[in-house]
Amino acid sequence: MLIFLIFMGCSPSKQGANEMEVTAFVGARIIDGTGADPIEEGVLLIANGKILEVGSLQDVEIPEGAQVMDVKGKVIMPSIINAHGHVGIADGLESDYSRENVIRDLQVNARYGVTTIVSLGNDEAPSSAIRNTQDTSGLDRSRLFVAGEVVTGETPEEVKAAIDRNVAMGVDFIKIRVDDNLGSGKKMPKEIYKTVIDYSHGLGYRVASHIFYLDDAKTLLKAGTDYIAHSVRDRYVDQEFIDLMKETGVYYCPTLMREVSTFVFGSEPDYFSDPFFTREVDSATIAQLQDPERMKRIASSTSAKAYRVALDTAMVNLRKLADAGVTIVMGTDSGVAGRFPGYFEHLEMEMMVDAGMTSMEVIVSSTGGSAKALKLDGVGAIQPGNWADFIVLDKDPLADIKNTRRISAVWIAGNKIEGSTAP
Ligand SMILES: [Zn+2]
Repeated sequence: MLIFLIFMGCSPSKQGANEMEVTAFVGARIIDGTGADPIEEGVLLIANGKILEVGSLQDVEIPEGAQVMDVKGKVIMPSIINAHGHVGIADGLESDYSRENVIRDLQVNARYGVTTIVSLGNDEAPSSAIRNTQDTSGLDRSRLFVAGEVVTGETPEEVKAAIDRNVAMGVDFIKIRVDDNLGSGKKMPKEIYKTVIDYSHGLGYRVASHIFYLDDAKTLLKAGTDYIAHSVRDRYVDQEFIDLMKETGVYYCPTLMREVSTFVFGSEPDYFSDPFFTREVDSATIAQLQDPERMKRIASSTSAKAYRVALDTAMVNLRKLADAGVTIVMGTDSGVAGRFPGYFEHLEMEMMVDAGMTSMEVIVSSTGGSAKALKLDGVGAIQPGNWADFIVLDKDPLADIKNTRRISAVWIAGNKIEGSTAP
């Protein structure tokens, strides 16, 4: 009884005094995010923000007194995990971290059905504080995991000090960059990233690595990195890389939209007239992107041209790696100024299908498969015990991945997210 009272005291559940008030979503096709065949005429039971049971109408008994939501003709899928994003670090096209921006981004993501974001860098103390408050049935914004400051340094002492600062802040991952930005910068040397990986592992943390080049990705895998957080983009992956990925069980995040973002605003993308985009992006930002001078600058930029070529390589590599059975997790690198959180994840999923993955594979990489790879507890698949984080869609994303945008409603911890119905 005491436990029950404490539980009710600290969770602002709107379900009143009955601790087992059940809501039943009845009649939808349910894609559970594990890759299993969808459940036809499904029943999803939720209570206290969590999933109680999921199955077919024949197999699941709807408890007496349950609130029944008729979702016949609709499709339920787990809400989306962005395995490589950034949160709270931009305001329009300017870089600007603040607690308010973190909350705003988590709300924008929530309305798009992207309800878990692994923020791989530039997170400050308010971000981990916000992360600490999300295990509640009252949650009405997306969930956040953080990497803190991207670890840099010239000496072992410097990188260890940066890791210590991150640990003190309470990060979930450690993030490094091993890249020379198309030859314009200095790459972190092998002995330094080896130190980062060994020291982080010693403290119980996983290391996500930003890479560009195939050779760096291989040496990072041999050095023990846990996560390849971008596509290999300088050349096609080879058997040695595929074998290393599979032997180590390391997961791979394509972030195709990251490349797109470098060149796409050299002209006006179609989605400037898509209400699903314009609903969340203020018109002043769109006007800035439409500035002819800005467009011209991007269209003639050498790095933008190089990243456009890199994107083609990344698409081929994604196909090769997915076909070989490497674990792929969906991520976009959104949240950086000019990379629009929420919307870009839907475009990323479409691009992953364009690269050659099936819609089902992409959904698994964006939900249950991603949570499993990244060891994110309580999210991902629609299965008993997990948080009731899911999307009700008007159309089937297995028929066309673009239907992830046909959102009827997003639910987080069993709470319907206001403003999530697609325009
Ligand atoms: Zn990033």
